[in-house]
Amino acid sequence: MNNTDWEPADDEIEWTRTNLEPLKVGGVWSPHGLEYERTGDKSLRLVSMVNHEGVAEAHARVCKVLSDHMGWTVDDDSVERIINQPSPEEIAANQEAELQRVQEIVSSWVCPNEACAEPLVNMPLERTVWVNLGLHTFTDPQSGEEGESDRWIAQVGCPKCNEVIPMNPLDYGYIAGEDLFYTWRVPNTTTQYRVLPRDECTALIDSGEKGVALGSTLGPVDVPPHMQGTYCVRSQYIDDEEE
Ligand SMILES: [Zn+2]
Repeated sequence: MNNTDWEPADDEIEWTRTNLEPLKVGGVWSPHGLEYERTGDKSLRLVSMVNHEGVAEAHARVCKVLSDHMGWTVDDDSVERIINQPSPEEIAANQEAELQRVQEIVSSWVCPNEACAEPLVNMPLERTVWVNLGLHTFTDPQSGEEGESDRWIAQVGCPKCNEVIPMNPLDYGYIAGEDLFYTWRVPNTTTQYRVLPRDECTALIDSGEKGVALGSTLGPVDVPPHMQGTYCVRSQYIDDEEE
């Protein structure tokens, strides 16, 4: 189960580290259809996995990063559940429960600076800086085909110790919630864009006003992927950093 020819890039190792270091012993980490429990300082146990080729590959990659690059051990002999892929109805029914579960998990994440350990949910998430790390190759788990896409991180600054915490965009979305996730502050400006939900979008257009549709860039700035192709309202914000 643990064999893969794949070799991680430095930032992929860093991504794993960033996800695991804030996790307490007994805490759960759930990437890519997998569920792991942290069982010690440098040990992890596979609790459940979705029965899918791509997920098995993802597990093999996690094992490789952890054992070859971080000196951890991964126990996958005592896996409790192999989950068969659910129907679309089951996915829809479970979505809300899953979101709540993940939010409970992320609410236990803390600043990776051990002396600080401020919960991430307490951080000024509205001041997140989106950073494009550039093109990376990936393998599509469904088709096995190689592709290229930009890799983004959401940088959150810890107000207690000033640590800059790089977060996976989806993890950031879980912590920040939809409203913050879909509000983007353009770097080095006081301009922000907020994605309009469908009903607000309709009301805006009916009222004769205009929003802004975002592409992949805004002047010299790259637009974060979740904001691309959305219809937004632009506004000014006041940075309350000095307060
Ligand atoms: Zn901190």
